[in-house]
Amino acid sequence: MLNRREFLGRVASAAGLVGLSGAASACRWVQAPPAVRDGKPKLTFYGSTRQVSGSCHLLETSQGLYLIDCGQFYPDIANHQTENLQFPFDPKEVKAVFLTHAHVDHNGRLPLLWEKGFRGTIYTTDASRDITEVMLLMSYGIAEGSGEEPLFSRQAIERTMDAVEAVPYNTRLERHGIAFRFTDAGHILGSAMIEIWADGMKFLFSGDMGPDHTPILCKPTQHFGADVVLVESTYGPTPRDEVGYEEFGKRVQKVLAGGGSVLLPAFAVHKTQLLIYILHRLMEDKIIDPKFPIYSDSATAQKVTAIYNRYREYHDPEAQKVKELFYRHRYREPRPEESLRSHDEGPAIYISTSGMLDHATAPKHLYLMARDPRHAVFLVGYQSPSSVGHKLLSGEKKIEIPWEERGPEGFRREMRETEIRLQVERVSGFSSHARGQQILEWLNGFKSVGQVFVVHGDNDRATGLAEAIRKMGIPAHAPKRDESFVPNGERVQPGPVPKLAAPPKPVEPAPVDR
Ligand SMILES: [Zn+2]
Repeated sequence: MLNRREFLGRVASAAGLVGLSGAASACRWVQAPPAVRDGKPKLTFYGSTRQVSGSCHLLETSQGLYLIDCGQFYPDIANHQTENLQFPFDPKEVKAVFLTHAHVDHNGRLPLLWEKGFRGTIYTTDASRDITEVMLLMSYGIAEGSGEEPLFSRQAIERTMDAVEAVPYNTRLERHGIAFRFTDAGHILGSAMIEIWADGMKFLFSGDMGPDHTPILCKPTQHFGADVVLVESTYGPTPRDEVGYEEFGKRVQKVLAGGGSVLLPAFAVHKTQLLIYILHRLMEDKIIDPKFPIYSDSATAQKVTAIYNRYREYHDPEAQKVKELFYRHRYREPRPEESLRSHDEGPAIYISTSGMLDHATAPKHLYLMARDPRHAVFLVGYQSPSSVGHKLLSGEKKIEIPWEERGPEGFRREMRETEIRLQVERVSGFSSHARGQQILEWLNGFKSVGQVFVVHGDNDRATGLAEAIRKMGIPAHAPKRDESFVPNGERVQPGPVPKLAAPPKPVEPAPVDR
């Protein structure tokens, strides 16, 4: 009897999904025939192609095969569960993986890669290594706790972590006949852009790029030349929004002073740490009264906060001046049960997962607060159309809220209906992704650039950003799944940056950064 994974793996294999495939393309560049190497490197896109999740790019060189990121597919693509189980190349042949950062849509299939035979080295920064371990264990724990079969075994996570070699920023290293260098991408702690020199060409994988400036982190590194550049398009051709931390602080204080509590549903990585840091700053500035406690009750978020606290050398100069970033004022890291019990003790700020209120503890807080109009929930991140957060933003007054329990009898999930009388606020300006305009300006900083590939954005955003880049005279393309390219090595000087028009209606970023 096959288990689900074996069954799906065999289905994939039977359908001819294993092995190199070159999909047809309308692109004007030459499609590389499968498995051919005439001394020129070849790049194939196996994920985050006109979609956000599943970053996975294969670089074939005369020295061997290298993978850049190996992330999970999310429900933003059809059949994502099946897609997660298969690799359209032989993992045994991959010499090394270069990991840009620790979000699950970039690293979430590394243990499966190991299970399928990969025995090479995974290069990433030390901070990314530490956060990756937390994220892989979280991913495994969620599946196991909810009674699903995890994508990989616990042992595979351990072997994956054994395969990691942490590398410093800004240092050119040579291994396996190629050279590479990691530089800061300013997206989350440890995030990197990766330069790879192979067969006389230079590739630059920007990974996810941070905004011009996000608190705690440094600015994304400006590069000056490459034959091939990959850029993200989470926002695509949309202009940046304004960051209004002071305004946010005033709104939080108003709720607290009125006797209500504030719920901040947030992703465990970066968003939680950003919120804690900003709330402390607002307390220092007397915008929020420091007498109110701040609770962060996700075990994963607590571990990531400790990692953020450990790598002070990667913080921006402003954050480095602050003696204690997170563990001050009345900040506490209770277990979820304790945090839920504290609602009787008066107004507090609760930072809790998940960011869209679809699972874990945040929906339980919402359930306890929902009927009291003194309380408020502030939605600081993306809310997908089917999420509880989206229903709140739509103004629905009766909502079913998921209530999850893990007990001796296993995992239980029930829906509890409640009336919504608490205040619902949307807050923008907390994104950890660069807007399209910033990416254009970044490319304009190059002295010379060859071909640009736009990934990590849905169809409209990826193709829209590629079109804007072409207006600068740079050959740019949003690749489709399984497309391969042999770069021609010709470079151009970037032209002036076009001004991106504001969209007719506000555009949400795509669902990322679990
Ligand atoms: Zn990311």
